[in-house]
Amino acid sequence: MTQLGRIVIVGGGLAGLATANALAKFGMKAEVYEAAPMLGEIGAGVNTSPQANKALIAIGLGDKISAVGWSAPGAYTRNMETGEFLEFADRAKTSAKYGAPYYTFHRADLLDALASGLDPVTIHLGHRLSAIEDRGAAVTVTFTNGVTVEADMVIAADGVRSVVRQALYGDDNPTYTGQMVWRALLKGSDVPKEVMEPTGYVQWVGSGRHLNAYYLRGGEVINIVTQEDTDQWVDEGWSTSGDPDAMRRSFPNAEPRLERLLRCVTDCSKWGLFTRPLTDNWGRGRIQLIGDAAHAMLPNAGQGACQAFEDAYILARWMDAERDPVKAFANFRRVRIPRVHAVQRLAIARAKFKHMQDSAAQKELITSGQRSGSVSSDWLLGFDPVADWDKDPVVPN
Ligand SMILES: Cc1cc2nc3c(=O)[nH]c(=O)nc-3n(C[C@H](O)[C@H](O)[C@H](O)COP(=O)(O)OP(=O)(O)OC[C@H]3O[C@@H](n4cnc5c(N)ncnc54)[C@H](O)[C@@H]3O)c2cc1C
Repeated sequence: MTQLGRIVIVGGGLAGLATANALAKFGMKAEVYEAAPMLGEIGAGVNTSPQANKALIAIGLGDKISAVGWSAPGAYTRNMETGEFLEFADRAKTSAKYGAPYYTFHRADLLDALASGLDPVTIHLGHRLSAIEDRGAAVTVTFTNGVTVEADMVIAADGVRSVVRQALYGDDNPTYTGQMVWRALLKGSDVPKEVMEPTGYVQWVGSGRHLNAYYLRGGEVINIVTQEDTDQWVDEGWSTSGDPDAMRRSFPNAEPRLERLLRCVTDCSKWGLFTRPLTDNWGRGRIQLIGDAAHAMLPNAGQGACQAFEDAYILARWMDAERDPVKAFANFRRVRIPRVHAVQRLAIARAKFKHMQDSAAQKELITSGQRSGSVSSDWLLGFDPVADWDKDPVVPN
């Protein structure tokens, strides 16, 4: 195929780099402009589910991600105070059912894997977008370092605080969700094996909060990420350093395994969760928003990055199929918006379920199968981005 025109991607995070790889797969070259002086993510974990990995594999990144990803055979859920076993999510079985793996990654490893598939001269670091102007036949982007670039189309992957979104839709700041996150990385060898269950993946749920702990890099590192309902304002950003004792105090009456895990934390950070309501404002004309810039969501379904990877593959398919970016972007939005809205609704339902005040009622919902918001539904994980990239998605009512 021949180049569709000059393609600019704003933002070299998970969405932007995956999309640059997907475009390259279909013979299109994009220039990526990233604000940070270096590519890299603060250390943390990210999980990807089978349908998102199908997209990454179809993009040609299968070997690179399998080299740095780890597949936990399953995830245990326990009550935070009693330690009562509530549920086992058999990831090995689900992977076999849907024909693709789950992975957990250290974010820095995943970002490196995505970057290593690209020609380094196409990644322009230290370019923070400050303005964008759609002039009908072309788009001009301007960066704070004084550089101006003309493009035939712009893909905005500049995250939840997208400057492109603001330019298109005005004052559309994400708002504090009333939920904050604690995050910590531990050395795997510091934590007794029985704490992490046989699979190296465990979740404790309780009143108004939950905590996930899982192996990264095959157990060399343990990622802890929590979520807690709180009115207390917390800044956004992984790097707001936190007090390990304050983190421990967030989990009063922790059952013995959880208490042992928390005792190992010597360094942590905290993050306020910000998001915005579901919206169809995903771009127009020659400008297309993807990833968190289009559809920031609560992390409860573990799908923010997964949806960005679906975006990457499906956007590239439409750009390959249509010779016109305006048509390609409109078709992309037609098939993506209903599906991503369903995932955003699922994330909200999951947050309510995980933080239920009444643990007996919570258990009853699990055992009766009446729980709304299952993350192992066919419509979510059974989606095949390769076979169905151009079809209207099947979503729950
Ligand atoms: C606690 C937590 C846990 C999560 N766990 C998971 C999980 O397990 N699985 C999952 O699928 N998702 C998860 N997510 C969601 C996932 O992290 C995001 O959806 C994903 O990172 C979005 O990728 P992105 O590229 O759109 O945005 P980002 O990762 O935010 O990248 C945006 C990039 O744009 C750059 N940028 C910003 N502004 C500009 C500008 N003006 N000019 C140029 N560049 C700019 C930034 O520097 C950055 O590199 C989690 C989120 C949180 C908060």
